[in-house]
Amino acid sequence: MEFTFRPVGIIRSCFKEKFGIPRQPGLVPEARAHLELLPPFNRAEALRGLDEFSHLWLLFVFHASPDTPNQTTVRPPRLGGNRRLGVFATRGTHRPNPLGLSVVKLLGIVEDQGQWRLELQGADLLDGTPVLDIKPYLPYADALPDAHGGFADVPPAPSLRVDFTPEALVRCRELAGERPGLHALIEQILQYDPRPAYRKGQEVDRIYGLRLFDLDVRWRAGEGWARVVELARVED
Ligand code: SAM
Repeated sequence: MEFTFRPVGIIRSCFKEKFGIPRQPGLVPEARAHLELLPPFNRAEALRGLDEFSHLWLLFVFHASPDTPNQTTVRPPRLGGNRRLGVFATRGTHRPNPLGLSVVKLLGIVEDQGQWRLELQGADLLDGTPVLDIKPYLPYADALPDAHGGFADVPPAPSLRVDFTPEALVRCRELAGERPGLHALIEQILQYDPRPAYRKGQEVDRIYGLRLFDLDVRWRAGEGWARVVELARVED
């Protein structure tokens, strides 16, 4: 049996590359995204009643992950990349079918020159992600306070204290007019230390780059800290 799916919309988010995207939705509340609806769903009637829900499930394609249709085990980054678990015990991107599932907050439904979009908060999605379906979050069925979360039973703890050099702080404040919340967004991302496990604790002098909107956020990290050193515009 094979099935064919088509996207109902495309995500536009601040995350222009995979590095730095939070591992689950809600971890970076300042991460705003919107979902642009595609025809025939780009119309009011397809969205009728949706504004009564505070949160949505998005079923999407990991379109920027390599195909791994037969991979049976995964090393979750949460376990430091040392332990292999069965693919179905993880939420990683290497899956039999490249399907992702994220719950996001619905901030609003907007129409602009014939384009309908859903304004979203807390997304863990790469810009350009194709969304296959949208379903309202149902608290009575979807929130299960007694559930066990396996190796990810509690949210990841922030591990880095984030600050900015004086120059980077000035630049961030200059950019805040066009990018409100930029400072908090960077702080919320870096506090979870997006570096791969093998890099942690090494190379204090290394400068990492994180692509947000049209900005290259450049930062350093050491034991328990991250420092933003520059915010540079990048051309697409
Ligand atoms: N919440 C979803 C789930 O549980 O299915 C995604 C979890 S997955 C661990 C989150 C990671 O997916 C992010 O950190 C990001 O690197 C990656 N990601 C997000 N959008 C993607 C896309 N369109 N293609 C490939 N990887 C993506």
